[in-house]
Amino acid sequence: MKPAIVTLSFDDGAPEDLEIATLLKKHELAATFYVPVTNVEGRPTLSPVQIVLLSEMGFEIGAHGYHHQYLDRIPATDVYEEIKSGKDQLEQILGQAVTSFCYPGGKTPVVAVNAVRQLGFRYARTVRECRFSVDDPLLAPTTNPIGWHCRRHYVKEALLSGNARYCTYFLKHRLWAMDWLDYSLANLEYAVMTGGICHFWGHAFEIDRNNEWERLERLLLQIETMQNQGQVVTRVNSGSFHGV
Ligand SMILES: [Zn+2]
Repeated sequence: MKPAIVTLSFDDGAPEDLEIATLLKKHELAATFYVPVTNVEGRPTLSPVQIVLLSEMGFEIGAHGYHHQYLDRIPATDVYEEIKSGKDQLEQILGQAVTSFCYPGGKTPVVAVNAVRQLGFRYARTVRECRFSVDDPLLAPTTNPIGWHCRRHYVKEALLSGNARYCTYFLKHRLWAMDWLDYSLANLEYAVMTGGICHFWGHAFEIDRNNEWERLERLLLQIETMQNQGQVVTRVNSGSFHGV
């Protein structure tokens, strides 16, 4: 059977991304980091030297807006420039094209999706969950967040997926009642069973704040084990969807 694809992404360019990168290297896993240049929410972002370091470690660097502005909260006429300036700045730092984008806060107004297309991005990630395939790479969904749990949210996302087979699995195994790590492992099993794409995403600053490092490593170790057994392969986000 064809191995499932596992892809990981970490948002917001927190300095703790470097610790995530060290863990990912230890377990030989591919991942994408979405980095804004600055953050209107006031959290620190990676320096140009640190961004280059992540890229040199083999990780994909994706754009996340210049200021991490939610694109439905700024004037529509500013959206294109907000996305373009973040992309331009990263390309200048890295000396190479940046082809992946992540919508800050998962907000996807039409004007933003159009700008992403016009700017030549090949992949743009949302925060839609419980998905195991990518229909539109410019509105790419995820499977589940790392280190965050809300039963009602899990149920809502499972139902919204419209995937009857997954909903049956979700109900049968009481996935809504699991903590984030067991939920992630159950989703990983489902991806292996169905040959889908499993996309885990998170924020390094939350993992640090909630002291989830050990549990994150348990997830990474399981992915590494499954990769060694040929059950999954890991890819950067832009290389994760079919058709690449
Ligand atoms: Zn973000």
